[in-house]
Amino acid sequence: MKELPIADIFLSLQGEGHNAGMPSWFIRIAGCNVGCEFCDEKKAWNKNNFKTMNLEEIFFPIQSSQVKNLVVTGGEPTMYDLTDLTKKAKTLGLKTFLETSGVNEITGQWDWICVSPKQNKEPLQYSLTKANELKVVIEEDKDLTFAEKMKSFTNPTCLHYLQPQWTEKEKAIDIIYNYILANPTWQLSLQTHKYLNIK
Ligand code: SF4
Repeated sequence: MKELPIADIFLSLQGEGHNAGMPSWFIRIAGCNVGCEFCDEKKAWNKNNFKTMNLEEIFFPIQSSQVKNLVVTGGEPTMYDLTDLTKKAKTLGLKTFLETSGVNEITGQWDWICVSPKQNKEPLQYSLTKANELKVVIEEDKDLTFAEKMKSFTNPTCLHYLQPQWTEKEKAIDIIYNYILANPTWQLSLQTHKYLNIK
């Protein structure tokens, strides 16, 4: 890997899913080949708006930190070969967490893979079988059918989360609440970073 287009590198708490509350470094890689209407990171879609960085530059703020969790997100980070990025992270003793929609092949060495599939571009079934965590965004009742379809491709140890679409969260939380009580293999994921107004 030569360089990656980097939209942001920051330290914060993981806001959502199974690892919510976990102090983590985030590398937001620019570029996305999915294009969801509700995306809250549209500014990261165009990689040409960001400068590229080599591994030394990417890990400069991270390498001496006490925080040893690294979340790689986007955009859609699997547009790139992440083998060298995760190799470098491992040499620094970091635990590696991937956030992906699952539409591309997954490269690299990951301790945790969260697949958040999108209906406008369905994921590869292969990605779903690699997921430690499935996180489906829910806005309307019909999204639950999609969620169940995605769940059917996951492996038996995968955890399953339903997350309200932020701009429709009042309606979506009602739908999710009732659904989880009737289908208790699912759990609720909230975007706590948005409630806390942190990155
Ligand atoms: S896959 Fe993620 S980054 Fe890409 S458009 Fe959808 S929500 Fe946004």
